[in-house]
Amino acid sequence: MIRTYRGFLDRRRAARPQEEYREPTVQEWHDFQQHFELRKVSLGTCGRPYGTPCKHEHACIRCPALQMDPHQKPRLIEIIQNLRERIRPAAARDILGVETGGLAC
Ligand code: SF4
Repeated sequence: MIRTYRGFLDRRRAARPQEEYREPTVQEWHDFQQHFELRKVSLGTCGRPYGTPCKHEHACIRCPALQMDPHQKPRLIEIIQNLRERIRPAAARDILGVETGGLAC
């Protein structure tokens, strides 16, 4: 399996432009390192790949790229409770268009 995987990598690399395998410039390396330093979000770490934008406009709580910090569990519980408190009156007033995201009131 490893031999097959390495063969796949060699074939893919051979098919790509050689410029992509150059050494990064100082600025590129700096940007790369900054990316990882800036990945901290309130509930943990953003796991989106380097050079990709945030597609969810910082809606980290529902984002599959969020790597939850277990120490932030109390904060997550607080957010869930807050959401439930805001959904309950909206549901009581039968306000349409309120998405509960699976949260039971
Ligand atoms: S929403 Fe997702 S991609 Fe955007 S900052 Fe949060 S975890 Fe990262």
